[in-house]
Amino acid sequence: MPADEAYRRFLIERREELLGRIGDAARRAGRDPNDITLLAVSKTVGFEELRQAWECGYVAFGENRPQELKRKVDAASQDASLAGVRFDMIGNLQKNKINQVLGVATLIHSVSSEPLAAAISRRAERRGLVARCLLEVNVSGEQTKSGFEPANVLERAEEIAGLPGIAVEGLMTMAPARDADAARRSFGGLRELRDVLERRMGTRLPVLSCGMSGDFDIAVEEGSTVVRLGRIVFDPAYDDK
Ligand SMILES: *Cc1c(COP(=O)(O)O)cnc(C)c1O
Repeated sequence: MPADEAYRRFLIERREELLGRIGDAARRAGRDPNDITLLAVSKTVGFEELRQAWECGYVAFGENRPQELKRKVDAASQDASLAGVRFDMIGNLQKNKINQVLGVATLIHSVSSEPLAAAISRRAERRGLVARCLLEVNVSGEQTKSGFEPANVLERAEEIAGLPGIAVEGLMTMAPARDADAARRSFGGLRELRDVLERRMGTRLPVLSCGMSGDFDIAVEEGSTVVRLGRIVFDPAYDDK
């Protein structure tokens, strides 16, 4: 069997398994599995693997580097069979890279500070765009993680949501690795923060982007609407047991 065919079979079977697990977690929480988007994080694979994943049913991809995002979006636009593919920006975004992702990423998950939000808004306005964004929150408080502190996002979200060039659609977080209890607290905390913000602002913030390869079942139980899955989608050697 050619390697390509083996990889395709892996992608198909793994996708079935992941959709099954997302569905099970949703039902445990009394949620509709259709409310959860599986974002395939393609940052570690090339365009060819991404194209195979698309052929196996994945429709939305996440990249964490502006240049690589642009490269894959350009490659996809040259390939008529990928019409309708979605790419999101999920990684740390520097101000001088904003123009590389505007109009390219469908959703920017990683708006991690007020100055960054203001800079995105200014550049988007200049180009006649409204950038769809999530505010990244450091719910767990780990030093190594970027994002708004919860108290800070409560204070600033209304002002940020009022910026003309961005549309705030929800919140994003990353949980501490390999600690299921801490992950559950982070995801639950993100949801509660969203609920408080919705009440205060009187607007809906429907998107909660949380859950990665090692903790997405918990994230879905806690209300995630976008799970960002990398290794478990693309790496046959990944083992989360
Ligand atoms: C790499 C990455 C992911 C995916 O991580 P996996 O553990 O491979 O599923 C999700 N979110 C962000 C922001 C990432 O950088």
